[in-house]
Amino acid sequence: MYEHNQPVVVEELELDDPKENEVLVRTAASGVCHSDLSVVTGTIYYDAAVALGHEGAGVIEHVGRNVTGFQPGDTVILSFVSYCGNCRMCQMERVCLCQTYDVPRGFLLDGTYRLHNSSGDGILQMARIATMSEYMVVPEQNLVKIDPHYSLEKAALVGCGVTTGVGAVLNTAKVEPGSTVAVIGTGGVGLNAIQGAVLAQAERIIAVDIAEKKLNFAKNFGATDVVNAAETDPVEAVRELTDGLGVDYAFEVIGNPKTIVQAYDMVRPAGSAVIVGIAHHASEFSIPAQRFVSSEKRLIGSFYGSCQPRVDMPKLLNLYTEGKLKLDELISRHYRLEQINEAFADMEAGENARGVIVFN
Ligand SMILES: [Zn+2]
Ligand SMILES: [Zn+2]
Repeated sequence: MYEHNQPVVVEELELDDPKENEVLVRTAASGVCHSDLSVVTGTIYYDAAVALGHEGAGVIEHVGRNVTGFQPGDTVILSFVSYCGNCRMCQMERVCLCQTYDVPRGFLLDGTYRLHNSSGDGILQMARIATMSEYMVVPEQNLVKIDPHYSLEKAALVGCGVTTGVGAVLNTAKVEPGSTVAVIGTGGVGLNAIQGAVLAQAERIIAVDIAEKKLNFAKNFGATDVVNAAETDPVEAVRELTDGLGVDYAFEVIGNPKTIVQAYDMVRPAGSAVIVGIAHHASEFSIPAQRFVSSEKRLIGSFYGSCQPRVDMPKLLNLYTEGKLKLDELISRHYRLEQINEAFADMEAGENARGVIVFN
């Protein structure tokens, strides 16, 4: 991404060897996530130029000095957070909230580039990984080793969408069996919030979106009811479906102040609104302060499904093996890297559950 709000460019770059505690990974597949597009639009702000992609899996080619626990040939999922393992948040097993690394966005942990273009300019890596590249040099701590028998294009999806959506339901909200759940936004992450609600044995799962095709995906992933918010007020519709009370849990998976407030409005008193979507870095929302107290509603942020990558990602793959988690059905279409702008357009048009870039 050389310029915000312009088509992205596919080109050959020079890649440095891995330094200490870094690993060279050959990418097998990269999911196309809305957050990649959010970097292009500047909603998630990176300086240009940046190599995109934060949902991927691959095979280790080479390890740098001091790398322990990984060797060439290992199959890995890329995690999009770096964590130290020693700070208070890490000790509390909230590794995705580790605050240790005060490195500007997109640089490796020593504050330098590994990618350079033909003019010699450094290129940042989204989330220090950049899965939309044939090869990546990444910090060792961003790797999750997985059993080699898994399909890497399926495993790639666990790197963001599956973990973020399922984790929001199981880890962040801890939805109980028999609950009523609403999910606003049924793209790749929202569909996984829906299948998280199925795993949690929610009794009623109401999908809200404005695209009929995405609502059909939602039904296939376990939604019991669908609400088209282009045709009806979603807050009223969800209340009607729950005897006027509102749902126990609402998940906002868009990142829009308006739908965040809708999520808050559609939960019952003492219910939980969980915000998963990544809003524009400068946007804000407001809710009535007095009613916040008198309704005892909970408003919770959920980042990366409150996951521990090395614990939760292998678990999710195991659920897939047991037939309890849908991964095959998530992949609507494969793309070559050269088709990335088309993949973004299809995502914006709501054509895919998930699009996946596959590398040779
Ligand atoms: Zn993502
Ligand atoms: Zn830490």
